[in-house]
Amino acid sequence: MTKKIVSRYAPSPTGYMHIGNLRTALYSFLFARHSDGKFILRIEDTDRTRFVEGAEDVINQTLKIANLTYDEGPDKGGENGPYRQSERKEIYLEYAQKLIDEGKAYYCFCSKEELEAMNDGENSGYNGRCRERSREEVLHLLSTNTPFVVRFKMNHEGTTTYHDNVFGDISIENNTLQDIVLIKSDGYPTYNFAHIIDDHLMGVTHVVRGNEYITSTPQYVQIHEALGWELPEYYHLPLIMGKDEDGNVSKLSKRHGAVSFADLTALGYLPEAIINYVALLGWHPDDDEQEIFSLEELIKIFNPSHIRKSAAIFDYDKLKWMNAKYISALNLSEFKEIAMPYIERVLTNEVADFDCLLGLLQPRIQILSEIPEKIEFFQALPEFDINLLANDKKKTTLESAREILKTALAKLDLVQDWTNDVLFTELNAVAEQLGYKSMSVMWVIRLAVSGNVVTVGGATEIMQVLGKAESLTRLATTLERLG
Ligand code: GLU
Repeated sequence: MTKKIVSRYAPSPTGYMHIGNLRTALYSFLFARHSDGKFILRIEDTDRTRFVEGAEDVINQTLKIANLTYDEGPDKGGENGPYRQSERKEIYLEYAQKLIDEGKAYYCFCSKEELEAMNDGENSGYNGRCRERSREEVLHLLSTNTPFVVRFKMNHEGTTTYHDNVFGDISIENNTLQDIVLIKSDGYPTYNFAHIIDDHLMGVTHVVRGNEYITSTPQYVQIHEALGWELPEYYHLPLIMGKDEDGNVSKLSKRHGAVSFADLTALGYLPEAIINYVALLGWHPDDDEQEIFSLEELIKIFNPSHIRKSAAIFDYDKLKWMNAKYISALNLSEFKEIAMPYIERVLTNEVADFDCLLGLLQPRIQILSEIPEKIEFFQALPEFDINLLANDKKKTTLESAREILKTALAKLDLVQDWTNDVLFTELNAVAEQLGYKSMSVMWVIRLAVSGNVVTVGGATEIMQVLGKAESLTRLATTLERLG
């Protein structure tokens, strides 16, 4: 029988969920869910100097909105708690003590100045000074309350190799490894130590994480060996790059655009679209053609052997395209719900046909934050350059525009059923009556009621949204401006 898969997401609470972290969480989640395993959330908050108030809420909120449910976690409890490392201090100290007792770790009393002096240009890193202190010396220094850290006695001979399931075998010369710190002077463990203890005690079988840890893992391998523990399976994920303006790529950062989940959702990317896109950022399904996947589908088909090792490039245009697909798949009331906050930013007046406005918007936007700019003119007719009414391509002059507006006003005043279809028929009748092309009439009317050259929807759709009274007022106002 194969072992049940237990994976975890172990963020440090930084107050911010980078796309890379979200991808780690997602793959780890998919891994567990695909095989009916267990997914754990663990908060790695032992770096007290970097503590950010409210940061854990950001993590919880993100996972909740993204629907990445976990089986055990700080707010959920579970058989392996507590799930905040700051609450597990005693556990780490116990294992550090065990390693010290077995001669596999040692107290280091070197001061900051002494440590700095070890980096003299020729040598760098810790020189092992406290490795060989006698028991008496150590007891004396402890009894006089000399500050200390606990260091791991790394094996500096030979090589350490482990297998990464994405990148293959990774080997490192042990003479390049340092006696890393396990317990800091404040009594908190380092990440290096804490995650090993936790992954073991929490029964984690598969570690999915960013590839910044790929070269430090040999150190973790040695610590596992010292503790007599089996290694979990490792999956280090490829880097995520952004496109630079000069055509090169570099590690995805804020200068490329929004890079946190919260910033992306604030711009009006849908959580489902972000998840779908991020899933494909470093992993590919069997069928390379399909691109749209619900979370349920991803769970069904996720196969970690399809994680790519080449760097993934974050393509905002692609994400926008995908987001538009998700937006257009919503029904009108779902769309209304998510679009409303963006609509209300600019539209406080009531329009006559709100559903018509929603229907115009839905297929024409890629991200929700495009909405305000697109609908501002519904709030009030903007001051526009009246000379735009004369347009060679549309075959209009100011003179013909005047004529069109006058005739249209008279005709539309009689319309009872103020709908797109009826208005369309009426305006075509105006064109026919005056001997103009339909496009000429539509151009003049659309500009007259919207004040914009580019609009969501055509003249008659815009008029349906505005309603009869407002439309006629706008037409009359424009006619007046023409004199
Ligand atoms: N706390 C680490 C981070 O946020 C997690 C690394 C891991 O998953 O082991 O980078």
